[in-house]
Amino acid sequence: MNHDVIVIGARVAGSPTAMLLARKGYRVLAIDRATFPSDTLSTHVIHAPGIAALRRWGLLDRLTETRCVPITTYSFDFGTFTIRGTTRPVDGVDVAYAPRRTILDKMLVDAAREAGAEVREGVNVDEVVVGSDGRVQGVRCDGTAESARVVIAADGRNSGLVKAVRPAEYHLKPRLQYGYYTYFSGLPTDGLENFIRPGRGIGCAPTHDGLTMLVMGWPYTEARAFKADVAGNFYATLELVPELADRVSRARQEAPFRGGAVPGWLRRPYGHGWALVGDAGYNKDPITAQGITDAFLDAEGCAEAVDRWLGGQLDYEEAMSRWHRDRDARVVPMYEFTSQMATLNPPPPELEQLLRATTSHREFMDAFVSVVSGALSPAEFFSDTNVGRVLAASSAA
Ligand SMILES: Cc1cc2nc3c(=O)[nH]c(=O)nc-3n(C[C@H](O)[C@H](O)[C@H](O)COP(=O)(O)OP(=O)(O)OC[C@H]3O[C@@H](n4cnc5c(N)ncnc54)[C@H](O)[C@@H]3O)c2cc1C
Repeated sequence: MNHDVIVIGARVAGSPTAMLLARKGYRVLAIDRATFPSDTLSTHVIHAPGIAALRRWGLLDRLTETRCVPITTYSFDFGTFTIRGTTRPVDGVDVAYAPRRTILDKMLVDAAREAGAEVREGVNVDEVVVGSDGRVQGVRCDGTAESARVVIAADGRNSGLVKAVRPAEYHLKPRLQYGYYTYFSGLPTDGLENFIRPGRGIGCAPTHDGLTMLVMGWPYTEARAFKADVAGNFYATLELVPELADRVSRARQEAPFRGGAVPGWLRRPYGHGWALVGDAGYNKDPITAQGITDAFLDAEGCAEAVDRWLGGQLDYEEAMSRWHRDRDARVVPMYEFTSQMATLNPPPPELEQLLRATTSHREFMDAFVSVVSGALSPAEFFSDTNVGRVLAASSAA
């Protein structure tokens, strides 16, 4: 073995995994076919739990030094009522950011290197090497074989390691929403603004360099119609929110449109000699902007499990199965909530009644914002006890 750990992919799941394991003293090789800085298909809101992870890792100051605009308020405009609030703090952090991936991913790659990981950029992993006993032994790239005690795939939605090991998949979801985004200068926003209309969703958030990211979703069943005239449909959809359309009319579009749609899955994230972090192991529609935060928390969970195993505290199966169990317990309620939101169907009457009722008290609006930020479990917010409390307080108000 010439490495303890090989990580395939060095963006928001791979670099933190490599960094955290290198900080523990392991010999880590991270490989990415991309070079950094570089962009990727993704908007980039990171909620409080993700920002709290950056702070735990000592990287939050680096992010704030890039002058990315902090987001302290979230709003959800449903047309006839608006929920506006602030997330509950997570480890003392109650702010979100939407840093450009060109800046964020480079920062993470640099941190992995500083921690002692070897990061090879511009190198494609051509093959995952699997032994006759079914154990993943390493990878082949640039005609060279590299071996490790475990190969961690952080290689995104089209993971090559997944193709090689075919992990069990569950909770599968089809593509639900077709999202498109671009950037504007001269477009002021009040934090993260969301506008929900029947069959349409619009969001905007401030990022770097005086730019605002504006993203729009149509149901996936209408993707063909949307793509037939992206710009025309984008600007026509804005007219559903005249106040926003007016703001945009005074702003300037600074980038071409980018977009796409993704299906959802959970995968068993480990096996004999391999593990999956980030989208490779768990993917969902981007409507609630969980992917980067999930990638960070997954990197932490996986790195901790691998450390417990390599450090001799637990055997491999025990360490990795605990991480798997914890990951699923953390993400499944949000996965279901996200998939529901991504249908872009108007909320059913009982849900609309509940959401409208939250506007009676700031505390309830903050709680809904906290669900979206990941600071409060949807299971808790939508529990019978909480729903009863919100409805009773609203009718008493
Ligand atoms: C339209 C859209 C909008 C989104 N908006 C948000 C949002 O607002 N907030 C949020 O939190 N999340 C968002 N997401 C989700 C987020 O982008 C992903 O969850 C996140 O990028 C996953 O990170 P990752 O590191 O797992 O994979 P990726 O970011 O996909 O990185 C995988 C890396 O692996 C490398 N790689 C792959 N194969 C190989 C190989 N064979 N050899 C070498 N390198 C390889 C690639 O080059 C790439 O750099 C959005 C996604 C989409 C599609």
